[in-house]
Amino acid sequence: MANSAQVVIVGGGMVGAALAASLGQAGLTVALIESGQAPTLPRDDRFDLRVSSLNLAAEQLLAGVGAWERIPAARRCPFRRIQAWTRQGHDEASFDAESLGHDAFGSFVENRWIRAALWARLAELPTVKCHCGVRPMVLRQAASEAELELDDGTRLTASLIVGADGARSALRELSGIQVESGDYDQRALVINVATRLPQQDVSWQRFTPEGPQAMLPLPGHHASLVWYGKPDTITALERLDPEALRLAVERDFPSQLGGLEAVLGQASFPIRRQHARRYAAERCVLIGDAAHVISPLAGQGLNLGLQDVIALSERLIAAHRLGQDLGSPRVLDGYARQRRPQTLAMIAATELLHRVFTGAAPLRRLGSAGLAVTQRLPLAKRLMMRQAMGL
Ligand SMILES: Cc1cc2nc3c(=O)[nH]c(=O)nc-3n(C[C@H](O)[C@H](O)[C@H](O)COP(=O)(O)OP(=O)(O)OC[C@H]3O[C@@H](n4cnc5c(N)ncnc54)[C@H](O)[C@@H]3O)c2cc1C
Repeated sequence: MANSAQVVIVGGGMVGAALAASLGQAGLTVALIESGQAPTLPRDDRFDLRVSSLNLAAEQLLAGVGAWERIPAARRCPFRRIQAWTRQGHDEASFDAESLGHDAFGSFVENRWIRAALWARLAELPTVKCHCGVRPMVLRQAASEAELELDDGTRLTASLIVGADGARSALRELSGIQVESGDYDQRALVINVATRLPQQDVSWQRFTPEGPQAMLPLPGHHASLVWYGKPDTITALERLDPEALRLAVERDFPSQLGGLEAVLGQASFPIRRQHARRYAAERCVLIGDAAHVISPLAGQGLNLGLQDVIALSERLIAAHRLGQDLGSPRVLDGYARQRRPQTLAMIAATELLHRVFTGAAPLRRLGSAGLAVTQRLPLAKRLMMRQAMGL
């Protein structure tokens, strides 16, 4: 006997959990399938390595589904300014949220807090049922409904099945959606540090021919540094002990960092891009990293996934209120038509950043000139700032 829900969501990461919360609080019945265990609110003070820049639109979504206020202010770091420059230091672009009448562009928050806050909200929603420690094995798509069979034998039927199960999405594979992917031949070393400077309200990025170096501020005397480079270089850095890595960062990073007390943790990630050839199949749809993975260079991957959540939940809630079929091609194609151009624009912008700042010397000179021009074009600057805020 199969259990039924209006929507089954595969993957309870930040994106899948946000969609479950948004649909659940609108009264839709949701089954959330997560292969890992349910996260709980962190009890320790350490700063986790996985940190995301949430733009204003993402913050508003999290507030709207009752998750934002569960993240203590002491774990969020608003950033009011963004700066970018090249190694030569001549060409710089700087952006200030105040010039658009906003307090901040957004906040840096640890992923584990965002996810745990969303799951704490899910526990309050009577129409959301979470199935943890299970994976989908078989998908059956029919004209009137879809059925998903899990690896513990549970069968779930729904009008719509959403794949929010990340870059290696099983739901994407089961529904036969292909991806295009590529490698930048780069890795990113994420380093959590204790800084001599007190909490900062600026996030900066310096572009060097080997790859960018970025500083994302965290609460108190903390920051998350991202050091991009060729895989061999990053692997060698990753092997250093914390004190040797601290010295390497102090030697290689710009002086704006202001000296480090200690390296608190480090881990590296491959830089890849991936895009699903289509977002929807019969009674199935993809959101978040299951649909698109972009370089973390622009800090927009999660923001893009949360934009998917906003777009899909608006369509599903409207269809639910009108008594329409949630998995109909009209709903799913409408969602795909809305999101694909926006995602393609973000992929193109990130791609351009990569090519221009880490490409051959003439391209890098173009990049430097681009920063200088941006700085002098108020309209372009305003547009870029609104984009960074997700507005
Ligand atoms: C170094 C780095 C820095 C980044 N910084 C930023 C940033 O500053 N800002 C930003 O916006 N983005 C950033 N990103 C991107 C961001 O982390 C991702 O876009 C985001 O985590 C995607 O969330 P998701 O929920 O779609 O996928 P995931 O986080 O991958 O979650 C998928 C979930 O599905 C579950 N799952 C997987 N397989 C199955 C299965 N078969 N069955 C059931 N469940 C399954 C997983 O356990 C997980 O809970 C960064 C990425 C990297 C690598």
